[in-house]
Amino acid sequence: MTVKIKKSIIGAVKELWFETKYKGVFYERYVLYWFIKKVRFVQTGKLVIKSCQKKRELCAMTEIVKVQGLQKKFGKFQALKDVSFTVNAGDVVGFIGPNGAGKSTTIRTLLGIINRDEGDVQIFGKDVWKDSLEIHKRISYVPGDVVLWGSLTGGEIIDLFIKLHGGGSKAKRDYLIKRFELDPKKKAKGYSKGNRQKVGLIAALSVESDLYILDEPTSGLDPLMEAVFQEEVEKIKNDGKAILLSSHILSEVERLADKVAIIRRGEVVETGTLDELRHLTRSTVTLVTKGDIEKLATLSGVHDFVQKDGKATFSADNEAMNTILTEATKLGVIKIESVPPTLEDLFMRHYEG
Ligand code: ADP
Ligand code: MG
Repeated sequence: MTVKIKKSIIGAVKELWFETKYKGVFYERYVLYWFIKKVRFVQTGKLVIKSCQKKRELCAMTEIVKVQGLQKKFGKFQALKDVSFTVNAGDVVGFIGPNGAGKSTTIRTLLGIINRDEGDVQIFGKDVWKDSLEIHKRISYVPGDVVLWGSLTGGEIIDLFIKLHGGGSKAKRDYLIKRFELDPKKKAKGYSKGNRQKVGLIAALSVESDLYILDEPTSGLDPLMEAVFQEEVEKIKNDGKAILLSSHILSEVERLADKVAIIRRGEVVETGTLDELRHLTRSTVTLVTKGDIEKLATLSGVHDFVQKDGKATFSADNEAMNTILTEATKLGVIKIESVPPTLEDLFMRHYEG
């Protein structure tokens, strides 16, 4: 074991040397990240060097997925117009958009299943089309509609997936089968949609990957199993792995995602952390004052002002909040309530806009 680790460390250092020489820059964080990854790779359970969880900052510097100006046409139909976003190591990125927005098309391009028309698409700094074999060894993917071989049992299919990927753990597989309450002895043709999703999820989560691409993975799962999914993905997240999680339901990614990319009609219209995006929309303010509240209606940053029985309700730009409060104080505030925008509001803005 020690010898194996030593050899592997020497190998890793050599590889790093080539890598950095090739890149022409000695990027300390990058090197350290690679080094830690390599040591993790040979661990057999006793040697545990957790990489990214405690080193999120370090990992955040490494771009795992980079999509820049991606375009794709199906015949005359422009499915993707302009898709750009990045997923860094240790990031969980929610890829959100209504049905037909282009999430799966983007993901299929990332997997090298379909070719792009324009744009730069890289995973681990490699081209997704040319270097797909190499990339796939380090990826777990679950599509929204898992298709299985009907005559094999769920358990056989999971084992096959794990074998194809390599690096799976039987203990983890057994644990996940229990956790998702799957009957692995049943033939796949007898499985419901939910059970087929479970097979895909168990196989994907049983192997060690650096990137997990999950395309609406919980479709067909009941709420209880969705909660199990969230917990299991959270563990992967805490291990510092990169995850791209697509959904047309915002609340599904809200718990897990640090960042979101919002796609609408083939275009990524917004990217950022959930906090950043919340700041983009207006808070709803309810206010009761001693003086004539009408005076606030004309302030800049105040929108949709409605006054009833001495109570005013309006939406306010966050940057105007200070002025609004100052003016309200002059009138004598009796009651004030400010509700930040929900993510649903934010999402609706993109649906409607
Ligand atoms: P999402 O995953 O966000 O629901 P998709 O990426 O599946 O959306 O689809 C985006 C658009 O591209 C849709 O209008 C869909 O009908 C179209 N599309 C997807 N795949 C194909 C294809 N192979 N041929 C023609 N049109 C397609
Ligand atoms: Mg889809």
